[in-house]
Amino acid sequence: MTTFAGRETAAPASADGFIALDERWSTHNYHPLPVVIAEAEGARVTDVDGKSYLDFLSGYSALNFGHRHPALIAAAVEQLGRVTLTSRAFHHDQLGLFCRELAELTGTEMVLPMNSGAEAVESAVKVARKWAHQVKGVPDGTAEIIVAGSNFHGRTTTIVSFSTDETARAGFGPFTPGFVTVPYGDAEALRAAITPRTAAVLLEPVQGEAGVVVPPHGYFADVRSACDEHGVLLIADEIQSGLARTGTVLALDHEGVRADVYTLGKALGGGILPVSAVVGSRAVLGVLQPGEHGSTFGGNPVACAVGRAVVRLLNTGEYQQRSAELGAHLHERLTGLIGHGLAEVRGRGLWAGIDIAPGGPSGRAASEALAGLGVLCKETHENTLRVAPPLVISREDLDLGIDAIAKVIQP
Ligand SMILES: *Cc1c(COP(=O)(O)O)cnc(C)c1O
Repeated sequence: MTTFAGRETAAPASADGFIALDERWSTHNYHPLPVVIAEAEGARVTDVDGKSYLDFLSGYSALNFGHRHPALIAAAVEQLGRVTLTSRAFHHDQLGLFCRELAELTGTEMVLPMNSGAEAVESAVKVARKWAHQVKGVPDGTAEIIVAGSNFHGRTTTIVSFSTDETARAGFGPFTPGFVTVPYGDAEALRAAITPRTAAVLLEPVQGEAGVVVPPHGYFADVRSACDEHGVLLIADEIQSGLARTGTVLALDHEGVRADVYTLGKALGGGILPVSAVVGSRAVLGVLQPGEHGSTFGGNPVACAVGRAVVRLLNTGEYQQRSAELGAHLHERLTGLIGHGLAEVRGRGLWAGIDIAPGGPSGRAASEALAGLGVLCKETHENTLRVAPPLVISREDLDLGIDAIAKVIQP
């Protein structure tokens, strides 16, 4: 045992030891599977005992390009050898290039770089309010934002203020006012909720956390029309759905609809560090003036260098194509399991929410059984599993994972 000033400093000798350390010293705001990961590459991770697993979660889409993609690691390492942080008090030689390349990729005009996804959503909320007060003429302090039931936009006080998940809210009030909730997928309800004070509508193009819920055909076109008729901004939260997960750069591209503002995150950091951004039109993002918003780490040189490498990968189109092709195969095979342990399959591209049929295992039990078979997946809600392998996964590995799912969902 190594000690320093009488304190235990040795690393545990077993997986149980690491889990016990987490239990003792980290807050209990997660309930992880009992797997302790030590190494990872591509679509696979290895635990501290040397057991290999297929990653079927991809860090909730933060690992769209797999673990330690060589081009992303190279970009990070190169930048680590030059300059890592300047603060926004000064310019650096990566920020403008990152913003231009990301804007061109997403067909937008301006980029507000932040770090976590929740910060991007917070920033979009602030910008929409400012725009409503300054440009639309909504009396100051009265702007409203319409959101959908079962949304997931992050964990800050303001964001949980408009969550409909009691576990995410209970005990955390008082909440931020100014949000109106309507059912997801119901354009008429949304239209009816618009008032002269409505600044924006904030929606996920596909609701990931809710179980990979794809809206009815034509929903976003109707939402876009309603927004246009009433001078309301459409904000698409693409933090989980964007950057090739569904087979396109933006999931909203499937709907043939453009948003005024998009929030991006997760995969934008290449699975290396948190990088998020609000991207959109100059007419909206242009309302921010010096001193009105900011972030010490937002747009830092390493984040920008990695973000630029992510954009370069997306510019090849390869990952969008992989998602579309492997996704078609995934959905065909999963749909074949309906009536054989599955009740429902939803999703788009290499991304699926699957409901285990009544009489089968709980989502948690299925995740634990899958881990035993060497596949890492996570339940969302009682009986739903979210399947989101890295887009670099081989077809053979994808089939191995689906075989394991077919096995564990049997009643
Ligand atoms: C994950 C997620 C967020 C929050 O991102 P964090 O980086 O965890 O703060 C926001 N919106 C959506 C749709 C997400 O999936």
